[in-house]
Amino acid sequence: MATPEHEVDVVVIGAGQAGLAAGYFLRRVARREDLDFVVLDAGASPGGSWTHYWDSLRLFSPAEHSMLPGWWMPPEEGHEYPSARHVARYLAEYERRYDLPVRRPVRVRRVERSGERLAVVSEQGTWRARRVISATGSWSAPHVPALPGRELFEGEQAHTVDYRNPNRFAGLRVAVVGGGNSAAQILAELSLVAQTTWIASRPPRLLPDDVDGRELFSIATRRQRAAEEGRRVEGVEDLGDVVAVPSVREARDRGVLEAEPMFERFTPTGLLWADGTERRFDAVLWCTGFRPSLGHLAPLGVLDADGRVAVEGTRSVLEPRLHLLGYGDWTGAASATIIGAGRTAKGAVAEATDPLV
Ligand code: FAD
Repeated sequence: MATPEHEVDVVVIGAGQAGLAAGYFLRRVARREDLDFVVLDAGASPGGSWTHYWDSLRLFSPAEHSMLPGWWMPPEEGHEYPSARHVARYLAEYERRYDLPVRRPVRVRRVERSGERLAVVSEQGTWRARRVISATGSWSAPHVPALPGRELFEGEQAHTVDYRNPNRFAGLRVAVVGGGNSAAQILAELSLVAQTTWIASRPPRLLPDDVDGRELFSIATRRQRAAEEGRRVEGVEDLGDVVAVPSVREARDRGVLEAEPMFERFTPTGLLWADGTERRFDAVLWCTGFRPSLGHLAPLGVLDADGRVAVEGTRSVLEPRLHLLGYGDWTGAASATIIGAGRTAKGAVAEATDPLV
């Protein structure tokens, strides 16, 4: 059976914080001008990737420092740093508050050229749009490095995206691989019930205890301003890799945050290092990050060898009817954070609608 066809001015792909921030500014334009738009999201329920994070995850910043355009995040009762569940509820309420036209679940399979327009194709229908804003995040593209013998390992392998709480690893010997916040936070709670080993390609550095999300955002903003003036100032990566949230500080004080160097290969029962050391493990947990989730854009020929899209501002250099939002600093400083999403979204919507209305 043929799927329905629709014509709209703008399609936003993804209803996480980045896509919703774009929706907010599109709604403002639509109130003044004749503009129709839709936000398509693959998820079964609102909240973007915040619905998938592990149970104990809390924001790096207090609620009063976390906002999408127009509406500060309300505080979570009894907690200065809101939980992921609270953020998901905030996003759900945000959609309703601004009456954003979100359609879900709609997974966009591909975006392709269709005459004057771009065709956004899904199993639920095709939307032919004058502009497309892609805001699909990276949670659906987990990264695992290619290491020899991986397929030989008889234990369990899981990625951050599979992890909700430590229960299923209780009593096991677990290698946690990766040197960032996910690895440190998961290791902090896993080490209370399992025999953990932290493995990272270089020794992870904890940020000073007083650096939280507020400070991270100021550093990113200072850096962006300096770059615009042709200067270079310290970025977060110069200061450290891991935010010292309370659970991480407690694990550090317990002495479980000492990382081993990267291993060389798998064996059927564990891992082998270059100096010949072999250790047995029941499970390997990959906290090795993500790649931008951009496969749906492949038909446009805009993906480079790193799987990214070359942009000027948020606009694709090779396909000017396409904009990218979120993903990382390459689409705007701090654009993949709650507080930073609005700034880039405002720019993207201004660029995307300027010649339209
Ligand atoms: P997402 O939230 O991933 O949303 C993308 C949406 O697009 C999803 O709803 C998905 O279903 C949909 N989608 C994907 N592919 C398709 C498709 N093909 N078709 C249709 N829909 C699709 N930021 C902070 O500001 N503060 C923090 O404290 C903080 N902590 C973090 C902790 C962790 C562990 C992680 C991973 C991130 C954290 N971040 C934090 C970073 C950031 O806020 C998130 O990465 C954020 O979710 C990115 O938002 P997004 O809208 O770009 O993507």
